[in-house]
Amino acid sequence: MHYVKVKGILSAKNGMNLYRGCSHGCIYCDSRSTCYGMEHDFEDIEVKENALELLENALQRKRKKCMIGTGSMTDPYISAEMKLESLRKSLLLIHEYGFGFTVITKSNRILRDIDLLQKIHARAKCVVQITLTTYDENLCKKLEPNVSTTAERFNVLLRLRDAGIPTVVWLCPILPFINDTEENISGILDYCTEAQVRGIICFGMGVTLRDGNRQYFYSQLDRHFPGMKERYVRTYGTEYILSSPNNKYLMEIFNRRCAQQKIMHDPEQIFRYLNTFDEKQACMGLRPLRGPPCIPPEAPPRRFSTSFRWRGHASCAAGASLTRSARSGDLPPRRVNAIARCRVGQTPFQPNTMGSSTHFVPRFSPFPRAPCLPEIQCTQEVGLPLAVLGLYPEIFAHPSHTMIVRNSGH
Ligand code: SF4
Repeated sequence: MHYVKVKGILSAKNGMNLYRGCSHGCIYCDSRSTCYGMEHDFEDIEVKENALELLENALQRKRKKCMIGTGSMTDPYISAEMKLESLRKSLLLIHEYGFGFTVITKSNRILRDIDLLQKIHARAKCVVQITLTTYDENLCKKLEPNVSTTAERFNVLLRLRDAGIPTVVWLCPILPFINDTEENISGILDYCTEAQVRGIICFGMGVTLRDGNRQYFYSQLDRHFPGMKERYVRTYGTEYILSSPNNKYLMEIFNRRCAQQKIMHDPEQIFRYLNTFDEKQACMGLRPLRGPPCIPPEAPPRRFSTSFRWRGHASCAAGASLTRSARSGDLPPRRVNAIARCRVGQTPFQPNTMGSSTHFVPRFSPFPRAPCLPEIQCTQEVGLPLAVLGLYPEIFAHPSHTMIVRNSGH
């Protein structure tokens, strides 16, 4: 594993890769292709150490909310993620700024983040995409050796279904002479039906090979399927698209089964669905979900008003440290860029803020002395309610002092 600083994190289509390289070991992996210009070993994971900072800047700058995607070049749930938590921290930012999210993965490590995925889906939209290639568990361990097996991924689909998070399955690649059988396709479609997936992406029964991934694929064929490489070379030469001889027959089964189950199977329609950001989407599923009903989307809390109604000793000064109501451990340290407007009664005043640029707790101290402090109101536009972290002791020093904190969204 090694670290680099990068210049940008979001692509033009709002995709991101927090890591480069992958440790899942799929024998057919296209990301190994030399055309991607990777200058390090594929298993030597490159960690983009400034990814979170760049992501937050990008989300702040975006005028329109959209879906943020990840997982197209590297599965973000590699083992390194469990230690580094780059994706989890990204999800916190995506949720905080009200964006949608979609991820492609083969790993059941995604279940660690199911709480955040639910929150994102409740507020905006979240779709999880899981790749399934092989119904046979033993074959799966040969084709995708370092990641969850198909049965484990099926369990993830069930958990997501029950959590109300929509899913899409990638049914690819299907390797000629290896898993291009009716039994395999039917088994996977059975899983998809039971898991109530919204869509299945399949461009045809086959695999693509190009320089870099072809050599690795053939070396693994030699290891696990003696004689198979020669059969591939004889049948396909150096073609890019290696379509299964059973393609037509298997696609008929695929199309028929998907139509019967009302599962989306037109790739264009599915990509439109994945790319469409709709804050109301959470409860407008294209198919009814089994399991708990989805939580209605919260009104986007762009502005929150926090009122301190203070009835107390008229001559006391008061102050308060405020933070967002999320547990502080959940949020990366960050710059406060939207500070409250405050007033005491009808009189506006300027709050102080803590000097540290990375601390996210604005601190108002002290509130001005006044003969009467019927109500202190602070409004901030960060997007989450405020909670009182600490109050100045003199508020509580007088027995008649009380303070009521009220958060309300606008
Ligand atoms: S999970 Fe994806 S990126 Fe990782 S090795 Fe497999 S195909 Fe390649």
